[in-house]
Amino acid sequence: MIEVQAFGGFEKPLSYLVPVELLSTIKVGCLVRIPLGNRKVIGIVSSLEPKDKPTENKLKNILSLVQKEPVLNEELIKLARWISIYYASSIDNVLESMIPSAVRDGMVEKTKRFIRINQRIPFEQACEKLKNSPQQKKLLIYLKDSNAELALHETIDLLKIGISSANGLIKKQFILEINKTVRRDAYNDEFTEKNHVEQKISLTKEQCQATKEICNSIQKKKFQPHLLQGVTGSGKTEVYFQAMEEVLSNGGGVLFLVPEVALAPQTVSRLRNRFTVQKENVVVWHSHLSDGERLDAWKAVTSGNAKIVVGARSAIFAPVQNLKLIIIDEEHEPAYKQEESPRYHGRDVAVYRAMLNGGVCLLGSATPSLETLHNVEVKKYAKSVLSKRIDGRELPLVHLIDMRKEAQREKNIPILSQPLVEALRQRYYDREQSILFLNRRGFNTTMLCTDCGHVEQCKDCSISMTFHRTDGYLRCHICGYRKPTPRFCPSCRSIEILKKGHGTQRIEDIAESLLPRRAVIRRIDADLMSKKNAFRQTLEEFRIGKIDILVGTQMIAKGLDFPNVTLVGVIDADLPLRMEDFRASERAFQLLTQVSGRAGRGDRAGEVYVQTYAPHSSSIQFARQGDVEGFVEEEMEMRKEYAYPPFRHLVRHIFKGRSEDKTSFYADQWAKALEANPIENLEVKGPAPAPLEKIKGYYRFHLFYLTNNVTRFLKHYQERRRSFPLDQEVQDIIDVDAFQIS
Ligand code: ADP
Ligand code: ZN
Ligand code: ZN
Repeated sequence: MIEVQAFGGFEKPLSYLVPVELLSTIKVGCLVRIPLGNRKVIGIVSSLEPKDKPTENKLKNILSLVQKEPVLNEELIKLARWISIYYASSIDNVLESMIPSAVRDGMVEKTKRFIRINQRIPFEQACEKLKNSPQQKKLLIYLKDSNAELALHETIDLLKIGISSANGLIKKQFILEINKTVRRDAYNDEFTEKNHVEQKISLTKEQCQATKEICNSIQKKKFQPHLLQGVTGSGKTEVYFQAMEEVLSNGGGVLFLVPEVALAPQTVSRLRNRFTVQKENVVVWHSHLSDGERLDAWKAVTSGNAKIVVGARSAIFAPVQNLKLIIIDEEHEPAYKQEESPRYHGRDVAVYRAMLNGGVCLLGSATPSLETLHNVEVKKYAKSVLSKRIDGRELPLVHLIDMRKEAQREKNIPILSQPLVEALRQRYYDREQSILFLNRRGFNTTMLCTDCGHVEQCKDCSISMTFHRTDGYLRCHICGYRKPTPRFCPSCRSIEILKKGHGTQRIEDIAESLLPRRAVIRRIDADLMSKKNAFRQTLEEFRIGKIDILVGTQMIAKGLDFPNVTLVGVIDADLPLRMEDFRASERAFQLLTQVSGRAGRGDRAGEVYVQTYAPHSSSIQFARQGDVEGFVEEEMEMRKEYAYPPFRHLVRHIFKGRSEDKTSFYADQWAKALEANPIENLEVKGPAPAPLEKIKGYYRFHLFYLTNNVTRFLKHYQERRRSFPLDQEVQDIIDVDAFQIS
């Protein structure tokens, strides 16, 4: 008798019997098909010894195995349990999201037919018997001459003969048929970077030191998170590679996570260039692959054939064997947080998984998250530093363009300022490349003074307030505080108050109209990502110089390394500052530093033009000077004052429903119940309407909880929640360590 955790909304495992023929193959972690009522569902074998044994005669047999081998090992099942508890997600939901859909669907590997001559049958004798079958004879002679294993279909196409001739020969056993599995390898095609062989380089002093410190952790064979803080262009990747070699040479497996799918191809080709000579398979793992590619990646990993997996967030669940090193590149990126259930943070899951394996979790960034820096501070994480760019290359020169002055100069506020346009033209004439960077469109307008850069903030929450067109009020979306929008700027009394946004398409058009006709301008955005190879093709064209100016959002802000880029223009440096989020300055600082890092990575020095309404804001000033320490010190101070993360955990509680009144009513009732019977050591803020008040017809209200201990809080919360009757038409969602406040 076994226990199966069924998928699709089943909290508790169910008991089943195993038919005799499957007894020897059933293991914990196997994916099985089971009867449930009159349905068939799939689930994971969670135990071979159920705790409570129901009466035998009621039990049913499992129907079949979906995959012959277990799809999850004990380690991943443990990880799933932790995620389910810490992120308050149902266990079946977590398990399901760990397994690629191609695997869940029971897809099998693709095989291909090969043929070769059967040596056991004398050739003359066979020819004699084929006197009256000229086509079969032709194929036989061809195979004899080539004396090799050939792909069946390619061969008969070449000889212009029919499949029946081949089948006839196989039947007579004159030739042998071999079925081989073919691997569908992602990114092993024409878009892969060419002529970019990774030469052996000698490490810089700092790289040596960092490598030594990290390898030290690895050799201890104990759990250790390790921050590698290195300015952009300081050669962090090389240090990752050194750590990987240390682990691989001892038979360990490696997981390499990048924040965006967009960054996977570049990393994959660098890894392949480096590790295929050492006969290591590098496997790609993320949600944009075809089912076939995913299945083959999965097979290669579970069979132990591949010890290196590269991918975006979901790759953290790749069943890498003997996993001893997890690398999280750009660990500060919010993209590591999954914004649908299970709402886990890829970096934090990585740290926990490293702990389960007694391995090292290497977190790399030029601008580490305050959470990680705090963990270094309290000595949970070790830290190594790369303070200099390779070859002593300078950090780019950062020019701040004060858009308030630009606004005075012209009637309409220009989207591309004069100095930026002139710099773009100059690069074009000098045959150098530029990047124009645009923040993701702000979804909400805040009140911005174009004269002094003032942004109105909530007096209690230290976040920007949102302007609501419907009633003309400013609202705080954390605590619900509201007030009428002032008619003039409270700081400088100007009446020039503005709300505006613009997309990549628009920037592309404007740049085209302002630059010489022959300049090639292309944009990279979410639309492009949806077309399979368009994104990689554009990047490759940019790399080889076919494109002069690349316009894009945060996708191009990090990681990419283009030596001929000497100019980066940041079109709207203030947008993250204006978003109503306590992490706004951190985001602004990180983005600006990352973007600047794209300029001047070759031999030529780079320049960055930053358009801003708030040139004196601290995130822009610190980023301009490349002063991470200064920024962190100031920002930590602020977080401490409000006891925001990393000093406490933030949990967001969302109520959503089709009826605005009902949803808001239940959020209020819940808040009142909490107020009447408070949970110890918990600060509650709200309820307030979410910044995106209505999504797809659902109204949303939210509360925020600040706590020192998530697990303890969740226990109390779940107890209360069970006895709080929620209307059928209202749902609620818990988001632990929330990033998105929208
Ligand atoms: P980071 O990730 O820190 O921004 P990269 O790892 O992309 O930096 O390295 C920047 C560039 O420097 C790359 O082109 C890389 O090949 C090169 N590089 C790294 N280490 C060395 C070294 N020791 N000697 C010469 N070039 C190096
Ligand atoms: Zn003002
Ligand atoms: Zn507030």
